[in-house]
Amino acid sequence: MFRSIRIKLTIWYLFIIMLISMIFSLVIYTIITRELERGFRRVEMHFRTGEMGVFLPRQFLQREEINPQLIEDLKLAKNRVALNLLIVNGIIFGISSIAGYFLAGKTLKPIEIAMEEQKRFVADASHELRTPLTSLKTSIEVALREKKITIKEAKTILKSSLEDIASLESLTNNLLSLTRYQQVNGNIIFQTTDIFEAIQNAYKKIFPLAKKKNIVIKLKIFNLELEANKQSLEEMIVIFLDNAIKYTPKKGKVVLRLNLDKKDLIIEVKDTGIGISQNDIPHIFDRFYRVDQSRSKENVPGFGLGLSLAKKIIEMHEGSVAVASELTKGTTFTIKLPIKHL
Ligand code: ADP
Repeated sequence: MFRSIRIKLTIWYLFIIMLISMIFSLVIYTIITRELERGFRRVEMHFRTGEMGVFLPRQFLQREEINPQLIEDLKLAKNRVALNLLIVNGIIFGISSIAGYFLAGKTLKPIEIAMEEQKRFVADASHELRTPLTSLKTSIEVALREKKITIKEAKTILKSSLEDIASLESLTNNLLSLTRYQQVNGNIIFQTTDIFEAIQNAYKKIFPLAKKKNIVIKLKIFNLELEANKQSLEEMIVIFLDNAIKYTPKKGKVVLRLNLDKKDLIIEVKDTGIGISQNDIPHIFDRFYRVDQSRSKENVPGFGLGLSLAKKIIEMHEGSVAVASELTKGTTFTIKLPIKHL
């Protein structure tokens, strides 16, 4: 598809370049031939009046009065000019075709990459959506086929269906957030945000999960106002804390520490969890990337969207994120955010 668009774009480039080139050639041809005619007339005039040193007015030297040899020479000179302009146009056509094709390729490349990414995104998202949907459909179909179903069995089925629905809800929320941040494209609204408050709000959201796993969360934080998008900042903190809890075995420890580095705020989220292998670290921020969970005892829910979302939020804030991890020992995410935006 892109090949035909590239050719079409090349043709358009060529059309515009050749149109300009032809107009220029026509103007040049008119100027040169007019100058030539004027020159030839002057020569003819010189021949006739040269001895006397008298110049005759132009109307005395009409074309038909000019020496036929000179008219022939004038014709030849005009033809040569036309031929040279034609050759120049031919060269321009050749060069423009190659340059146009190359430029069209360059222009279309980012669009091609974006479209490829979009296609992959839709395919991955559909795949992820299908899994809970299939499970939901199967359990309902099995329940319907059952002639005598007890209340207890029905409740179990409803409970598992509800879990699938919750999973679908979380996936669609993540997908919506991702598309929302993709559309932002730098036009983010920053407001004065207290990091202490943002962390407290995030903490409240993930506290039930930590309690369930008996994980202690230590907050070493202070009040600081920074220019940020409050909602997305909270969302980002939730993602890091949620992951730290999800990937830390029961009775583990998570520490969130704030630091200052010149004009930046440093947020460090450290856990005593399962860790990430060096091979996986370069990919964990990719959309839908999940590390093989077979090494962890529990099957951790998730779609591999959290960190890509967090990275998008950090980039929107012109910040950066680094990871240090050791398998079975734990992971530390270090997020650097500018306190003020210029
Ligand atoms: P999800 O958690 O939904 O799988 P994420 O994008 O948040 O997706 O994370 C991608 C992968 O990175 C996870 O599947 C997990 O394997 C790994 N990961 C993220 N945070 C941690 C952590 N704190 N400890 C260990 N592994 C982690």
